[in-house]
Amino acid sequence: ASASTLEAPAATQIAADRDCRNFIAGQWVETGRLFENRNPIDNSLVGQVHEAGRAEVDAAVTAARKALRGPWGKLTLDERCALLHKVADEMMRRHADFVAAELADTGMPLAFASNVNVPRGAANFKVFADLFRNVPTEAFAQDVHHGGKAINYSLRSPRGVIAVVCPWNLPLLLMTWKVGPALACGNTVVVKPSEETPSTATLLGEVMRDVGVPEGVYNVVHGFGPDSAGAFLTEHPGVDGITFTGETGTGEAIMRAAAKGVRPVSFELGGKNPGIVFADADLDAAIEGITRSTFQNTGQVCLGTERVYVERPIFDAFVARLKASAEALVMGPPDRTGVTMGPLISQEHRRKVLGYYEKAKAEGATIVTGGGVPAMGDALDEGSWVEPTIWTGLPDSSAMLREEVFGPCCHIAPFDTIDEVIGRSNATAYGLAATVWTQNLSTAHRMGAELEVGICWINSWFLRDLRTAFGGAKQSGIGREGGVHSLEFYTELKNVCIKL
Ligand code: NAD
Repeated sequence: ASASTLEAPAATQIAADRDCRNFIAGQWVETGRLFENRNPIDNSLVGQVHEAGRAEVDAAVTAARKALRGPWGKLTLDERCALLHKVADEMMRRHADFVAAELADTGMPLAFASNVNVPRGAANFKVFADLFRNVPTEAFAQDVHHGGKAINYSLRSPRGVIAVVCPWNLPLLLMTWKVGPALACGNTVVVKPSEETPSTATLLGEVMRDVGVPEGVYNVVHGFGPDSAGAFLTEHPGVDGITFTGETGTGEAIMRAAAKGVRPVSFELGGKNPGIVFADADLDAAIEGITRSTFQNTGQVCLGTERVYVERPIFDAFVARLKASAEALVMGPPDRTGVTMGPLISQEHRRKVLGYYEKAKAEGATIVTGGGVPAMGDALDEGSWVEPTIWTGLPDSSAMLREEVFGPCCHIAPFDTIDEVIGRSNATAYGLAATVWTQNLSTAHRMGAELEVGICWINSWFLRDLRTAFGGAKQSGIGREGGVHSLEFYTELKNVCIKL
C-alpha cells in the first residue's frame, strides 16, 4: 500500500503495563532483571523490559543456529519469500498496534509513525524477498592459457546467524531494514533493539510466530550496550556477522568485538550532514526541504541537516524564512491534531542536546530562534521537550559545527563560492548525507561528484528508493545496504570454476 492511502488510527491508547520480554526460539523469556521503558512525552511508565544476560543471549544465538540448519534452511526460496510477504501483510493488519507501540516508545507524531515507519517497516520484508528471488549471479566463460576452456559461476548462500543491533530513532523502520534482507537471504537473526525502544521488535516476534516463521529464525534480546545484551551478542562467537546502526563511537566498540573471530560488520553510523542552498534555488522548496531535514523526528534522523550553508545574496532572506518555519512547528503529544514535532527520546538525550544549546551560546552564537525548553503547561512538562533551534555566527571550528547533536537544531552560515562550500562541507570526519538546493544543472552534478558522502540529495531530502545503495563515507559507516548491495553483506558469494 502506498503511504498516502493509509488511514491513521483514530485514537492511540497505550496500555500502562506493556512489558517487553525476550523472544528466543519462539518463546517469551522473562529474566527478572527489569528496566523501565518510559514514554518521552510525559515520562510516564510504558512498561518493564526484561534484560537478557549472557545465558539468554547464548540461548538466542543457539536457537538461531539450529533454525538455520533446521526448517528455515530447508524451505524453498519461494516458500521463504511467501512467508516474508505474510510477515509484511500481518504487520499491516496490525498497523494500529505497531503505531501504538512506536508512539509509546518515541512520542513521534502519529502521522509519521502511521504513514512512514510502519508501512515502510512492512515493505522492507516484501522488497527484499522480491529482490533476492530475482537477482542473478555472474558467470564467466574462460579461455585457459594452455588450451581448453572453463566456466565460472557464482552461488550465494546465507552468511549464517546475524546480530542486528539497532538505535532508537526510527526503531521499526531501521530494524526491519536489516532483518528483511537478512531473512530474505536465508539467514537467521538475533535482534538487540535499543533499550529506549524495545516495543516494536517485541511485537514483531508475535507476528513472526503468528504467520508461521519457524522458531529460532527471529530472536529478540533486550538490554543495554556495554556489559549487557549488546556486548554479549556482538562478542558471541556463534554470530557470523554484525549489522549495526548507531553512533560512531559504539561502532568502534563493536568493531573491536567483531575482530575476535574476524566477523564481518555492516555499519550505519553518525553524521554531521550539510544542507547547501545556492542563490538560484527554488527558495520555497529549499525552505520546506531544510525544515524537514532539520526538524523531522525532532532532529533525530541520521540523515538530518545540522549545518546549513546558504549563498550570501539570499542568506538574510533564508534565515528569516527558516526561523518562521521553525516557529510554525507545533509541539505536542502524537495524536493531538496539528502536532508536527514530538519530544526527544529521553531525559538523558535531552541533557546532551541542551548541553550543545549551552555550548553554542557560550561560543558566541546568535540565537535566531529557540535555544531552550518549551513550557508545555501540563503533564507534558515532565517529558523530554526542547525548542527547535537555529543559530548563526559560529566559526566552522566550534563544537556545534563538528559534533553530531542529534536534536532539532541547525547552524546557518553564508558562503560565497562553490569551491568554498564544497571544502567546508567536506571538512568533517563524517560523510553520511547532504542535501543541495540549486536549479543549475552543472552545480548539481558537481556537488553530486565532489561531496564526500554516501548519499547526496539534490532538491530533495529523505527520498528513498530501497533499490539504491545506502550507507556512509568516512566515519559514517562501513559498507552499503539497499537493493543488491544488501546481498553483499547478508550472503557469502562463492565462485565455482569448472574446467571443461
Ligand atoms: P547508540 O550507538 O548509542 O546505540 C545503538 C545500539 O547499540 C543500542 O541498541 C545500544 O544498546 C547498542 N550498544 C551500545 N553500546 C554497545 C556496545 N558496546 N556493544 C554492543 N552494542 C552496544 O546509538 P543511538 O543513540 O541508539 O542512535 C543514535 C545514533 O545512531 C546517532 O549517532 C545516529 O546518527 C545514528 N544513526 C545512524 C543511521 C545511519 O543509517 N547511518 C541511522 C540511524 C541512526
